[in-house]
Amino acid sequence: MSIRPVKSLSTAQPTMEGAGVHLHRAFGFHDPAMLDPFLLFDDFRNEREQDYAPGFPWHPHRGIETITYVLAGSVDHGDSLGNSGTLGAGDVQWMTAGSGIMHQEMPKGNASGQMHGFQLWANLPSSLKMTEPRYQDVNSTEIPEITDDDGTKVRVIIGEFWGKKSPVDGIAADPQYLDISIPAGVKKSFKVDTYRNTFAYIFQGAGKFADASDPNGVLLEKEVAGQEFNIRDLSGNRTLVEFDTGDEITVQAGEEGMRFLLISGKPIKEPVAWHGPIVMNTNDEIRQAIHDLRNDTFIRAD
Ligand code: MN
Repeated sequence: MSIRPVKSLSTAQPTMEGAGVHLHRAFGFHDPAMLDPFLLFDDFRNEREQDYAPGFPWHPHRGIETITYVLAGSVDHGDSLGNSGTLGAGDVQWMTAGSGIMHQEMPKGNASGQMHGFQLWANLPSSLKMTEPRYQDVNSTEIPEITDDDGTKVRVIIGEFWGKKSPVDGIAADPQYLDISIPAGVKKSFKVDTYRNTFAYIFQGAGKFADASDPNGVLLEKEVAGQEFNIRDLSGNRTLVEFDTGDEITVQAGEEGMRFLLISGKPIKEPVAWHGPIVMNTNDEIRQAIHDLRNDTFIRAD
């Protein structure tokens, strides 16, 4: 076994999206090769209604897949395939835009005004960019949740882990998406396929990741995250950890415990031409998409 070294640590940055939603972006719109096949990761945990209520009214996507995971509150959605519904706490939506979809995503707070969740964008390979749009909604109760003897809890959002498989399937990037909670002081290792690009996103508590230079587990000096999740102050717990190659990661939770997403996928290694919600391989394909939008020919499937 070789422990994956931590390649970089960074903090998600505040940004504005949709019709005026305040969110934090861990990565996106900079270097699409960085975490190929993943293009973007947004943390939309928010406590102020005026900062999320404007939502994401009707907008197009082409050439990618978007994965929405709701922790608190809900998201009302509708799309050009005729789907509509509400994602609630713990639910997951996987949307394959393929050749083109128009949809809207409208967040709502829970009784305490909380609207918490994440959206990940996964790229599609050129052979599937114009595939038929598809959409999978997974209820929280269908998502496997495993608790280990030491109290570590893993929700298998996408992929397979510890013998449990998520019902979400047929995803081009073949990703593994885990929501991991580790109790205070517990040290834990997780296998990750050697050839996958891998990142962790810490959103509650704090902990340390082991460095490859000492497989016995001397931990990185730099503590990640560093603050317990607090509904009045969400700052300081939005750490993105990017890993180098290896076949496992080792982490030790701090005294508040630690909760993070561990996400990996097979790199696609193709050129990327990116225009907002449309991600293709060439600029000609981007021009075609814009032409299709202007001429009302963007939606191919009926
Ligand atoms: Mn969207």
